[in-house]
Amino acid sequence: MSNLVEVRNLKKYFEVSGGFLHAVDDVSFSIEKGKTIGVVGESGCGKSTLGRVLIHLLESTGGQLIYDGKDITKVSRKELSDLRKKVQIIFQDPFSSLNPRMTIYQTIAEPMKIAGGYSSRQIDEIVYKMMDTVGLARRLVNVYPHELDGGRRQRIGIARALVLNPEFIVCDEPVSALDVSIQAQIINLLLDIQEKMGLTYMFITHDLMVVRFISDEIIVMYLGQIVEKAPSKELFERQLHPYTKALLSAVPIPDVHVPMKHVSLSGELTTPINPKPGCRFAARCPYATPMCTKENPALREVSEGHFVACHLVK
Ligand code: SF4
Repeated sequence: MSNLVEVRNLKKYFEVSGGFLHAVDDVSFSIEKGKTIGVVGESGCGKSTLGRVLIHLLESTGGQLIYDGKDITKVSRKELSDLRKKVQIIFQDPFSSLNPRMTIYQTIAEPMKIAGGYSSRQIDEIVYKMMDTVGLARRLVNVYPHELDGGRRQRIGIARALVLNPEFIVCDEPVSALDVSIQAQIINLLLDIQEKMGLTYMFITHDLMVVRFISDEIIVMYLGQIVEKAPSKELFERQLHPYTKALLSAVPIPDVHVPMKHVSLSGELTTPINPKPGCRFAARCPYATPMCTKENPALREVSEGHFVACHLVK
C-alpha cells in the first residue's frame, strides 16, 4: 500500500512576545492510503496545529509536505482550490463550526457552490445522498443547526466534509464535545464511511480509548514533537517512552485481573517558546539524566515500525 501523506521535518512556529512558539517542531511521518493515524497528547502539544498545517489551513514554517507523491508544501491559489476538494477537516465543536443562519441544505451544499461546476439538480442529489450516508432524515433538510442535538450537528459537519468526495480527512477531536452515548455512533459512522469511500484519516484526540479503537497507527506528541510512534496494538502493549507510559497509565484496563499502575507526572511543563536544548520532557521525567537536559533525543526506530525519542531506550 502506498503513502497518501508524507510529512518531512515539518515545522510551524508562531511569533509571540519574547520569541517563537514552536507548536510543531521537526515532525516526520507518513500515512498509508486507506489507513487511520491517531495523534494523541495533552492540550497544547501541537496536535491540532499539525492537522491544520497538513490541510493548508495554516502555512508551515519549514519542512516538506507530500500529498499522493506531489510536493504541496507551497501551493498556488489554483492548486489550493484543487487540494480543498481532496482534503477536508471535521471540527471538534459542530455547533461553533456551523453557520447558525444556514439550513442543513445550505450548509451541505455550500462547498459545492464554492467549488463550482455543479448544476442545481446535481447539488440537490448530492445533498440528499450525503444526508442518507450520514444518517440524517431527509425531513430535516430545512432545519437550522440550533434545532438539532450535538450528534446530528456533527453528522452535518461530516456530510459537509464529504460532499466534494475527498480522499483525506483530518478529524480534530470529532467526538469530544458529544455525550458518551452519541460518541460510539459517530465513531462507527466514520469507520463505515471510511470503508465505503476508501478514505484516509488523521484522528486527533486526547481520548486514548477512542484512538485505540479507531487507529492503525498512533503518534504521541509532546510539546510540538513526536516522542513515540507505533502500530496501535503495539503501542498499547509495549509503550516505551516515559511520557507515553504516564499517558496510557490513566486508561482503564478492561481486565479485572490486571492491576492498574497509574504513573503521575510532576515537575513543571517546559515552555514551547524558544525551547532550550535537551529533551522537552526532562522537567517531568522520573528517569532524566544530565544528558537529557543537554541533547534532544532523536526519534529512532527500535523495532519494526516502532519509533521512540528517548536517550534511555536502546
Ligand atoms: Fe526522560 Fe531523558 Fe528519555 Fe527524555 S530522554 S524521556 S528526560 S529519560
